[in-house]
Amino acid sequence: IAEVNELAIRDGLTGLYNRRYMDEVIQHIVYQWKRADSILGFLMVDVDFFKKYNDTYGHQAGDKLLRSFSGMLSSLLRRESDYVFRYGGEEFAILLPSTNHETTEKFAHLIIKRTQSLKISHSASPLGLVTVSIGAVSFKSSKKRDIEEIVGLADEALYEAKNSGRNKVVSKIFNEEI
Ligand code: GH3
Ligand code: MG
Ligand code: MG
Repeated sequence: IAEVNELAIRDGLTGLYNRRYMDEVIQHIVYQWKRADSILGFLMVDVDFFKKYNDTYGHQAGDKLLRSFSGMLSSLLRRESDYVFRYGGEEFAILLPSTNHETTEKFAHLIIKRTQSLKISHSASPLGLVTVSIGAVSFKSSKKRDIEEIVGLADEALYEAKNSGRNKVVSKIFNEEI
């Protein structure tokens, strides 16, 4: 990936890579991944009841939460090829190239656990603490996959995690062509 201006690829609030850079990186990695017909993991992480958090504690407290949470996510990355992005608002995307389903799923559960360990009070949440929901997808083969499809499938899994009570992971594995 060509060198670019750091400011142009970072999110101002959290310091994470931004959505624009995500498109670039994913395009690059998906291209390599398709050529190698390799495995890939991808997570969409969304803070639960974040609107209520802002309403209860104020927008600045919300910003602070996003910064702490982003720092925690970054600290969990282990490989140089792993990326975390601020996808938008209180939504984060994590790209795990050459990572199998088991590891992708474990990573998602670790995020749930670490978020709970932050023990950030959230009185307006039925759970009492700040939690996140995660849609995790992994692909055994990369034929015919494109970025929109990967994000779309992760979004569907996230939606299921939200609808089945939040503070959980819904993970899916795709072996064959859809
Ligand atoms: P759910 O559990 O279904 O995810 O509900 P939610 O309230 O987290 O989701 P919703 O999409 O209803 O609200 C997201 C909120 O995130 C609304 C918006 O004001 C807030 N938000 C987005 N970006 C920022 C930001 O940079 N700072 C702060 N403090 N709030 C933000
Ligand atoms: Mg949310
Ligand atoms: Mg959201």
